[in-house]
Amino acid sequence: TRTPVNVTVTGAAGQIGYALLFRIASGHLLGPDVPVNLRLLEIPQGLKAAEGTAMELDDCAFPLLRNIEITDDANVGFAGANVALLVGARPRTKGMERGDLLSANGGIFKPQGKAINDNAADDIKVLVVGNPANTNALIAQAAAPDVPAERFTAMTRLDHNRAISQLAAKTGAAVSDIKKLTIWGNHSATQYPDIFHAEVAGKNAAELVNDEAWLADTFIPTVAKRGAAIIEARGASSAASAANAAIDHIHTWVNGTAAGDWTSMGIPSDGSYGVPEGIISSFPVTTKDGKYEIVQGLDINEFSRTRIDASVQELIEERDAVRELGLI
Ligand code: NDP
Repeated sequence: TRTPVNVTVTGAAGQIGYALLFRIASGHLLGPDVPVNLRLLEIPQGLKAAEGTAMELDDCAFPLLRNIEITDDANVGFAGANVALLVGARPRTKGMERGDLLSANGGIFKPQGKAINDNAADDIKVLVVGNPANTNALIAQAAAPDVPAERFTAMTRLDHNRAISQLAAKTGAAVSDIKKLTIWGNHSATQYPDIFHAEVAGKNAAELVNDEAWLADTFIPTVAKRGAAIIEARGASSAASAANAAIDHIHTWVNGTAAGDWTSMGIPSDGSYGVPEGIISSFPVTTKDGKYEIVQGLDINEFSRTRIDASVQELIEERDAVRELGLI
């Protein structure tokens, strides 16, 4: 039998945490034959609710779930962690300036990065979900100098999945027929969902759609503003789809992309496609044996270049702001 994998979830008592934990425990994160230990990290006010969720997890009698630990101490929460899902974050509240948002989140992600550095397993993989996810990932990564930088990633998989779904609806194809879609840049309103290299049942998506106005005025804004549309409709922010994307991100990172396809991940840039080295930006990546690689050699047209540059510019500004605040 396999040794259990230690999975740490922060913000475990929140909406996304609630949608996420049951799927991790039932084997969707790592596979149907991989046992897991769950570590739930919360702030003190969240501990009681996390205990309630843990009771429900017990009551599912999941065969793969070995044990659950609940803590508000990051050093305990990340002890021996192989996978860390950083979901808990400080949301933007009314009237909050960007600097306030970044410094509030710095207060969460800097100590968590240090705790990962000091306590996690050597093979630790980190996914940041809590917003602003890319820059929170950068803060955590900077606080973990002993962990290879590429282990810190930010989630753009929900944007990726949303874009696939929109493109499938537009073309009448099945979602499984859509390949090689890319989200570039920041997980924010500036993100760029790129269909110029995407395929719909083997045909080039942009040629098939052949409608730049739809791209610019419908597709891109629908994907970028989907979160707000869900809040409007549901009266609460997306949680199950965000949890699903977190599962997809880690599952793909660990188990690999399919031949002839790629995915989108926010990762530390190596300078590819003119994205400054070090910032955590979304790229097209293939994964294999627990490692990812940026897809190289894609032709970037004028339409795409402008949009990638705009999103990357926002990431540069966020990086400069957290640098100024002494967070990196
Ligand atoms: P959610 O579980 O709904 O969201 C958590 C984070 O995920 C938010 O930052 C949210 O950003 C982000 N997020 C990223 N993508 C999406 C998406 N597509 N849709 C929705 N959210 C997305 O928040 P809750 O308030 O329900 O729960 C947060 C929990 O975290 C609380 O239990 C709190 O106690 C805990 N917490 C724990 C910390 C810790 O462990 N140290 C620190 C801070 C909080 P956005 O707000 O922009 O939507």
